[in-house]
Amino acid sequence: MNIVNARLRGREGLFHIALDGSQIAAISEQPAMVSASAGDLDAANNLVVAPFVEPHIHLDATLTAGEPAWNMSGTLFEGIERWAERKALVTHEDTKTRAKKTIDMLVDHGIQHVRTHVDVTDPTLAALKAMIEVREETRHLIDLQIVAFPQEGIESYAGGRTLMEQAVALGADVVGGIPHFENTRDQGVSSIKFLMDLAERTGCLVDVHCDETDDPQSRFLEVLAEEARVRGMGERVTASHTTAMGSYDNAYCSKLFRLLKQSKINFISCPTESIHLQGRFDNYPKRRGLTRVAEIDRAGMNICFGQDSIVDPWYPLGNGNILRVLEAGLHICHMLGYEDLKRSLDLITDNSARTLHLGERYGVEVGRPANLLILSAPDDYEMIRTQGYALVSVRNGEVLMRRTPAQIERA
Ligand SMILES: [Zn+2]
Repeated sequence: MNIVNARLRGREGLFHIALDGSQIAAISEQPAMVSASAGDLDAANNLVVAPFVEPHIHLDATLTAGEPAWNMSGTLFEGIERWAERKALVTHEDTKTRAKKTIDMLVDHGIQHVRTHVDVTDPTLAALKAMIEVREETRHLIDLQIVAFPQEGIESYAGGRTLMEQAVALGADVVGGIPHFENTRDQGVSSIKFLMDLAERTGCLVDVHCDETDDPQSRFLEVLAEEARVRGMGERVTASHTTAMGSYDNAYCSKLFRLLKQSKINFISCPTESIHLQGRFDNYPKRRGLTRVAEIDRAGMNICFGQDSIVDPWYPLGNGNILRVLEAGLHICHMLGYEDLKRSLDLITDNSARTLHLGERYGVEVGRPANLLILSAPDDYEMIRTQGYALVSVRNGEVLMRRTPAQIERA
C-alpha cells in the first residue's frame, strides 16, 4: 500500500510513502499532486504523522462516573470517596469490558500507544490481572504499557511494597508511585527510593504521580530527579502531574530546574484534569493548578500531554480525543504563540513517544513500523485552529480506522 500527496512535519513539499507489509519501505518527494491508484490512500495535501500517544490514563477506572453516585463537588477528595464505592463493585469482566470500550474510543481518535496506571493497592491485584489480559487481547489495536500504580500508597498501605513487587512479577511494564499521598514526608521519600530500586533491579520504566497537589511544600520531584540522576536512569523516568510546581516560588524553582535538566527525566501534564481538580482550596485569585509546562519545554526538557481520566469519579467528561486535551492545554499554559502552535503536535506525538521510551518503534521513517495517521489539515497550526481529526489510522500496514467528516450544506 502507498500513501500519496502527504505533507510531513518539518519538511517542505509533498511526499509519497510506500508501505511494505508492516514496515515503512520508502519515502520519496513528489513533484506535484497525483491521483491515487486503487488500494492507495490519498492524504490530499494533509499531514501524515506517527500515531497519537496517550501517555497517562487510568483504564481500570474509566466509564464509571455516576456509578453508584456522581461526584457533585468535583473535588479530588470526593472523587476518592466515590471511587471507593465503585471499587467495591469491580469484577474482572467489568474491568476488561470498560477498558476495551475506552481503548476503542482512543483508537477512534488515532491513538495507538497507551500507558495506563492500574491500581495495585488491592490484595487480590484483580484490576492488574484483568489489564494484563487486555494488553494481550488488544495488541492489534494499541501497544499498551501497564504501570503498577499504588493509589493508596506504598508505605501507607498494608503490604504495599510486596504488592508492587508482585505486580512487576506478574508483568507490569512500569513502576509507579504517589509520594505526596503517603502519610509522612519520610514515607514519601522512602517510597521513591523503594520504587527506584525496584525499577533498577527489574529493568522497568518509572512513572510517578508526583506532587499532584497545590501544596507548595510538596517537594518530592527533587527526590525523584536526584535518584534518577545518581542512577543514570533519567530517560527511563517520568514525573506525572507535578502540579505543585505551579505553586513553588521562583527562587526554589530556578534551583530545581538545574537538577531537573541534569536528571534528564520526562514530564507529563494532564491539563484538563488538573484545571478541574486543582485550585480547589483557593478563593480569588485562583491558581490554575498545572505544572510549568511552557517553562519545562523552553528549558529543553521533555514534556507531553495526557487525558488522565475518561468519565470516572475524578473527571466526568472525555471521549478519547487527545486533540481536545492539546487545545485546552495550549490555552491553559499560555502556549498560543505562533512558535508553539507551529510545533504543537509534538506534545501528543514525538514528546510522548520519548516519554514512553518507544525508540525506533515510532516515527514516519524508513524501516520503522507502518503505523501512521492521515490528519485533516496540512500543518500543526491548522490542526488546532480547525479542531481537526485523524481521518485514517494505519497499523501494521493496514487501515485500522477511517473517519468521514461531517458535511455542511449552506442554503
Ligand atoms: Zn493519574
